[in-house]
Amino acid sequence: MKDCIFCKLVAGDIPSTIVYENEGIIAFKDINPVAPVHIQVIPKNHIGSLAELTDDNSELASKILLAASEVGKKFCGENGFRVVTNIGNDGGQEIKHLHLHVLGGRKMTWPPG
Ligand code: 5GP
Ligand code: ZN
Repeated sequence: MKDCIFCKLVAGDIPSTIVYENEGIIAFKDINPVAPVHIQVIPKNHIGSLAELTDDNSELASKILLAASEVGKKFCGENGFRVVTNIGNDGGQEIKHLHLHVLGGRKMTWPPG
């Protein structure tokens, strides 16, 4: 989608450090990490947020979760990690392209702010 930073990143128009890729998904390091491990897992096709997933995307929904699991296990190991997706204004979503934050490398706090 035009003017979407993450679509531009998928197209290679914006540089990124890609750490995982499969047919429908890429994962790359966050530009402004809030934890020692902070990776974004996104669909290559534009989907606005988790709230915009439908039955038509059920295969992708499964694949993106599995990708987040793979990335978390690979980069955070046995200590665990957190997967977050922000939706809309109250959710704190800045980039309107579905992305799962994979966060780890330190003890996470709860509840989130
Ligand atoms: P949100 O607030 O939408 O859930 O998260 C957006 C995330 O995208 C933020 O963690 C932000 O640091 C990251 N981000 C924004 N622009 C870029 C970029 O150009 N490259 C990368 N790698 N990450 C970005
Ligand atoms: Zn997009």
